[in-house]
Amino acid sequence: MQTGSISVQTENIFPIIKKFLYSDQEIFLRELISNAVDATSKLRTLSNRGEVTGELGDTHIEILIDNEAKTLTIRDRGIGMTEEEVMKYLNQVAFSSATEFLEKYKEGSIIGHFGLGFYSAFMVANQVDVITKSYKDAPAVKWTCDGNPAYTLEAADRDFRGTDIVLHVEDESKEYLEEGRIQELLTKYCKFLPVEIKFKDEAINNTSPAWKKQPSELTDEDYIAFYQELYPHSDQPLFWIHLNIDFPFNLTGVLYFPKLTNNLEVSKNNIQLYSNQVYVTDNVKEIVPEFLMLLHGVIDSPDIPLNVSRSYLQSDRNVKKITSYITKKVADKLHDLFKKDREAFEGKWNDIGTFIKYGMITETKFDEKATKYVLLKNLKNEYSTVEEYKEKVKATQTDKNGKIVLLYSNNPIEHHSYIESATNAGYDVLEFDVVLDNHFMQHLETKNSDITFTRVDSNTIDKLVDKDEKRESVLSDDVQDELKVWFTKRAEADKATVEMVALSPDEMPVVITKPEFMRRMQEMSRMQGNNAFGNFPETFNLIVNTNHTLINEKLLNLESEEEKVELVDYLYNLARLNQNMLKGQDLASFVKKSINFLG
Ligand code: ADP
Ligand code: MG
Repeated sequence: MQTGSISVQTENIFPIIKKFLYSDQEIFLRELISNAVDATSKLRTLSNRGEVTGELGDTHIEILIDNEAKTLTIRDRGIGMTEEEVMKYLNQVAFSSATEFLEKYKEGSIIGHFGLGFYSAFMVANQVDVITKSYKDAPAVKWTCDGNPAYTLEAADRDFRGTDIVLHVEDESKEYLEEGRIQELLTKYCKFLPVEIKFKDEAINNTSPAWKKQPSELTDEDYIAFYQELYPHSDQPLFWIHLNIDFPFNLTGVLYFPKLTNNLEVSKNNIQLYSNQVYVTDNVKEIVPEFLMLLHGVIDSPDIPLNVSRSYLQSDRNVKKITSYITKKVADKLHDLFKKDREAFEGKWNDIGTFIKYGMITETKFDEKATKYVLLKNLKNEYSTVEEYKEKVKATQTDKNGKIVLLYSNNPIEHHSYIESATNAGYDVLEFDVVLDNHFMQHLETKNSDITFTRVDSNTIDKLVDKDEKRESVLSDDVQDELKVWFTKRAEADKATVEMVALSPDEMPVVITKPEFMRRMQEMSRMQGNNAFGNFPETFNLIVNTNHTLINEKLLNLESEEEKVELVDYLYNLARLNQNMLKGQDLASFVKKSINFLG
């Protein structure tokens, strides 16, 4: 037997390994299995080159739990190591890279995904045995280390090629002797490793996942089946993009468009990052633009540096290129779908619209491309691109300043009468009802200086698209002022502004409008949830139609003050009712009064 001491440093790294890496403890299994996979892949490469002759035989990797001996074993049938190689790779290479890793870890500059390698075994074991036999004609050896820098190396009796890593699991880590826990870790980290992994005599991985294949080899059913493998029990994806690039960096993957729920948060953390089929993380924030995190699927790239700090990762040129490549691919795929089958694209709009709008608002690169196919939907369920829509309404909806006014409603039921007026005037009304739409409209206004969005209830029909055409009032200014006083008295309590306006006699006698600008300010202050915009009061305008006979005949000719107050109050409430603002006691007395009128 041979003994020696691994460490040339003064500091003993084992206690540090145990203490510092507590939160990432479970990655030891991935590290050791990755080494087993590497050893097997190397053997296959040598065999392909003819440097290993004869049958390779079985090359699967096994995970074994021995509850009596309290050991967890990772067994491979890879290249194995000779005695010299054990000395070199475990005592020098692995040890010094572990030391280096720990130095960086202490500085806090490690992302924590990869690096510790073989020595991560000491996070959970108080003794590690390596029993190995090289593919070369050399005797098997056993290396043992019990967590202090001293190790022993002795001859072992093993008659088959490959390596056993035997972990003597310490008490605090005894969860790693539980089948359930190991199963969980294998599912998380090893599901798509390229060498077959067996646990309890069952293969746990798919060695050639869809993303590693050529798109031409795969049918739609294959993609859908792979999606189910990644996300069991979920809805079918809408469509997918196969990423496949080897220059200037290496990246493969399949990204799926899921059926989106309106709650954007729910679907984050769904893209999995792999490095050569080894699972790394589902936190891809630094690598994928935010809006793309709504997608599902897999990205696999050995070129994404994993051993560096997050801030470095964000500024890394490779990562930047990867990000913009993925963005471009997604944008182009959507454009393809739009061009090839517009009807199908429109059919998917409910599911992909939010995603596209979000992308346009947050990613300039994506915005540039998506402008061509982002769709606006009107209340007749017709879809148009922004350019198409401008053409469509230009003739009727251009205002005195030359801006095209795009009318919309976020609640067609509440806005029914306003929509009816707009439609009668020959206008088109868009439907916008997603939370995101407020931002999206502003975004489009910024990008298109010739358009402006106005909610359908924000002004009287004559002013909605302000063409500076003035209708004559049948009442003189003096009489208008006289009548205005009655309305002002009633509206004062609600801080509403009264305006006497000459509308068509067919329009309502009294209308409540909520000016677009005021409403946006209110919404903004509500969304910020603070006083950044002041506490914007819920204000509105009360528009009195001086051309309506209820105003210019009935009200004007009433004798008593009492009767005037009563009619004004009734008309005022009618306008509130029309805006869904009449509630509770006010609504009840309004209904009672109406019944009295009829009776
Ligand atoms: P890395 O995998 O990054 O090289 P590790 O610390 O994980 O670093 O492993 C150090 C070295 O030990 C490997 O490069 C390899 O040469 C050797 N090694 C570890 N595990 C095995 C194994 N199961 N079979 C053969 N060689 C191994
Ligand atoms: Mg390794």
